[in-house]
Amino acid sequence: MKIFHRHPRADSLRIRELLIEGNKANIVATAGLIAFGRGEAFDYLLGERTIKSAKQAIKTAAALILVAEHPVLSVNGNVAVLVPRYIAELTKITDTKVEVNIFYRSAKREKIIRDFLLKAGVGEVLGTEKNYQVRLDEIQSERRIVDKRGILKADVVLVPLEDGDRTEALVKMGKKVIAVDLNPLSRTAQKASVTIVDNIVRAMPLLIRYIRQLRNYRKETLKRIINGYDNQRILKEALVHINQRLTLQRGKAPLNPQKDFFLKPGEMRSFPSSLAQDR
Ligand code: ATP
Ligand code: MG
Repeated sequence: MKIFHRHPRADSLRIRELLIEGNKANIVATAGLIAFGRGEAFDYLLGERTIKSAKQAIKTAAALILVAEHPVLSVNGNVAVLVPRYIAELTKITDTKVEVNIFYRSAKREKIIRDFLLKAGVGEVLGTEKNYQVRLDEIQSERRIVDKRGILKADVVLVPLEDGDRTEALVKMGKKVIAVDLNPLSRTAQKASVTIVDNIVRAMPLLIRYIRQLRNYRKETLKRIINGYDNQRILKEALVHINQRLTLQRGKAPLNPQKDFFLKPGEMRSFPSSLAQDR
């Protein structure tokens, strides 16, 4: 499909096309297309940009990844097709391991995702070899199967577009969980240690930028960033931002009404209204 670059929804249309293509290639689950729809609706409400509080979450996530002993990025089909090059970049500039972990589990799809990531430049992809797989009792879904070398021993897990159950279980296991989720109300967003309320396509490049910037900092400085972070406040700020946009109180309003668009108080009464006559 041809997408006109001046179309106001051009970026979002491009993402849809990518996901549809990924679905045809058996990388993206059909339900993954629907999950993006939910994300997209929240992105519209956010104004399709990285808000200030999300930048703070991304900065803290960068610090967490840099101080971690065993950082792991959990990848599903949507994440693989949306940001493959940035996943590769993350593994090059940090010790982050990449593990395929999908909700609609199938050995075939896991291998397709692994091969896709290898081609995109990721050196090693965990999660697909049977002899390294273990089951976590804490998780009900098929996502309970994790890699001994990856999520099982991770101290920091980056879980974009995650399911609430697994986020909760990973936190209970004592891991620091960084979520990327456009919906600040989802269970994932509420349960994670650091919630990046932003589109993964914007959050990943920014995460890489922060890592490049912070990687020369001393450990104590990074720890200070982490300790000063309050996830509940960040979530609240995202909700306040959405609320302000909805009530047209500040910034670029979603409706962008023209001057004099709304009737002034009392003006309606002066209309020769057919509605009024009908009553
Ligand atoms: P939870 O289980 O955490 O309550 P959920 O059931 O509402 O979440 P899921 O279908 O489990 O949602 O996961 C999809 C989540 O991913 C949604 O919350 C959606 O907002 C988010 N999402 C989808 N696409 C993107 C994207 N491109 N960037 C960031 N977040 C996204
Ligand atoms: Mg869910």
